[in-house]
Amino acid sequence: MQENNIIGDPHEPGSHALRCPQCHGALTVVQIEPIYEVDNTFNPYRTVVECASCSYRMVTESYTILGGIKNVDGQYVEIGSWGPTGSRMLSRFKYTVNEDLLKNLKKTQELVEFLILNESVVQIIG
Ligand SMILES: [Zn+2]
Repeated sequence: MQENNIIGDPHEPGSHALRCPQCHGALTVVQIEPIYEVDNTFNPYRTVVECASCSYRMVTESYTILGGIKNVDGQYVEIGSWGPTGSRMLSRFKYTVNEDLLKNLKKTQELVEFLILNESVVQIIG
């Protein structure tokens, strides 16, 4: 069980951090167990999203992608990664992480893991 703490920092300027829909508190993402899907390129995990301040709780799926940032345009981020056969892939997601962080990663072309939840990049695991 892998716990990824608070997504972004709600107090950080420019942060699009995920907030609790009920109380706007910070959300915690916990990846529970892998889901085995033959046809899925990525390895999804059954995932619980919980609020630190109230009883809000959501069960969903998430996965991580190892890659580098090709483009950030204010709404979407393009991530260059590799498929299971080693072929190059380009994926496009919305994001809730700090945009300056993404721009900086684009500049450095550093390879990092992106945590994807509901087709959005919600955390960068460096
Ligand atoms: Zn809450």
